[in-house]
Amino acid sequence: MAGSSPDSLLRRGDAGYEQARLDAVWNERKPDRYPEVIVRAADEQDVVAAVRLARSEGLAIGIRSGGHSWVGNGVRDGGMLLDLSRLRDVTVDPAARTAAVQPAVKGPALLERLAPHGLFFPTGHAPTVGVGGFLLGGGYGWNSRRLGPACLSIEALDVVLADGTLVHATDATHPDLLWAARGSGPGFFGVVTRFHLALHDLPRRVLRTVHSYPLELRDEVLAWSYDTLERLHPGVEFSAKVGFTPGSGRQTVSVTATAFCESDDNPLAPLEDAPFRDRAVRARVAEETTTAALYDHADRLTPPGMRWALDGIWTDAPVDEVLDQAGPLLDTVPDTTSHVLWMLWGGFPERKDACWSSQAKLYLSPNAGWSDPADDLAHEQWAHGGLARLQHLSTGLQFSDNNLADRFDHGLSPANAARLEEIRAVYDPEGRFHGYMTPRESTTAYAAAGHARTH
Ligand SMILES: Cc1cc2nc3c(=O)[nH]c(=O)nc-3n(C[C@H](O)[C@H](O)[C@H](O)COP(=O)(O)OP(=O)(O)OC[C@H]3O[C@@H](n4cnc5c(N)ncnc54)[C@H](O)[C@@H]3O)c2cc1C
Repeated sequence: MAGSSPDSLLRRGDAGYEQARLDAVWNERKPDRYPEVIVRAADEQDVVAAVRLARSEGLAIGIRSGGHSWVGNGVRDGGMLLDLSRLRDVTVDPAARTAAVQPAVKGPALLERLAPHGLFFPTGHAPTVGVGGFLLGGGYGWNSRRLGPACLSIEALDVVLADGTLVHATDATHPDLLWAARGSGPGFFGVVTRFHLALHDLPRRVLRTVHSYPLELRDEVLAWSYDTLERLHPGVEFSAKVGFTPGSGRQTVSVTATAFCESDDNPLAPLEDAPFRDRAVRARVAEETTTAALYDHADRLTPPGMRWALDGIWTDAPVDEVLDQAGPLLDTVPDTTSHVLWMLWGGFPERKDACWSSQAKLYLSPNAGWSDPADDLAHEQWAHGGLARLQHLSTGLQFSDNNLADRFDHGLSPANAARLEEIRAVYDPEGRFHGYMTPRESTTAYAAAGHARTH
């Protein structure tokens, strides 16, 4: 029952409330939004009790699992913040090749449980991301080019609905709910207490190639990567980064390819044919690596303890046009932590049983990271304003990097977005759960300066 332990229910003004509010957001840039009540659930029954309490007090619910929403989506003004960070149970059924995973479980904990059984899951790239928001938002994880966005591996859910009932939902019993859970991200209308996931084979080995090139080759390297994607096996994850090389004090353009191999072949060989290959200032070629090392690289790319503003668009536009329009963004990386990710996902077939949609060949994402609050506006302007300039090339955004409050874009195809609202009206007719964030709710310097708008 929520409230049974002294710190599990905190009202605004209680000792511990402010720390619990701040702790709910991994980003050092905390939102100035204040829920009336914070409930930290210890188990599923606490979640049921919390939703019933919210109903009885007329509170809208925001949800926090791993707390990695860049904009602190779960922390909203008024209502209840339902903190699920204590829900971290994992149960594996090796014979059925499934796992039941609670929402605050992190990628490394899940992979550690799967590896002894020769099993794997496309967890998020950073080790601290919670599966809750990651799975609902699509989930571009390790080997997702081949295995698909992680949401497509959701087989069933244990979910507390707006009326306070806990149901085990499958495609047979609740097809609309499963459709919505596979991709609606921060617009989902229920509290998932357990994801039932289909598992995949553990790769036989993982290889990684990284080339860093001088910045003057930037456009050539990015254009080459666009064409080279077609030559790479789907088991190869492929991206480029424009930003400072740690410790060197200068910017480079680097390409990274990670191969999840099922045989002894080396699928990274095509990268060595790059026409500018001999100009690499640093290269690691097809080195065997581990998921622990991959997590470590990702963690160093967006380290904790900093202020972060992220944004991103999917695009299929011709590469020359992308480069032309992205020039000002790429030319103005603001400091040594910030960077632009150029991720060649290549698309994945949409499914009728998932609302997940709006992806494209390239995901272009400015990652602004800084420390001094006085620098908020400049960094936010770079990330969101920089992308606003490319809006006409966008086929949508990724909910995982959702920034709907600071630059509106579509996270779903228009048809799926409309259907989602119809289903929401059935499952959550009173709006018990907060929906997608709006510019009105943004507390960033960018919004205060009047830049965040809907289109
Ligand atoms: C350092 C870093 C690295 C990242 N790397 C990747 C990556 O490689 N790939 C990728 O796809 N994304 C990545 N992301 C984005 C990440 O997937 C999203 O921010 C995701 O929302 C994080 O999930 P969470 O549970 O930690 O977030 P939270 O902030 O806890 O949740 C975000 C929102 O998701 C919804 N939600 C979460 N849990 C539940 C639940 N149990 N029931 C109902 N609704 C829920 C709620 O609306 C909630 O407000 C990264 C983020 C960070 C900060």
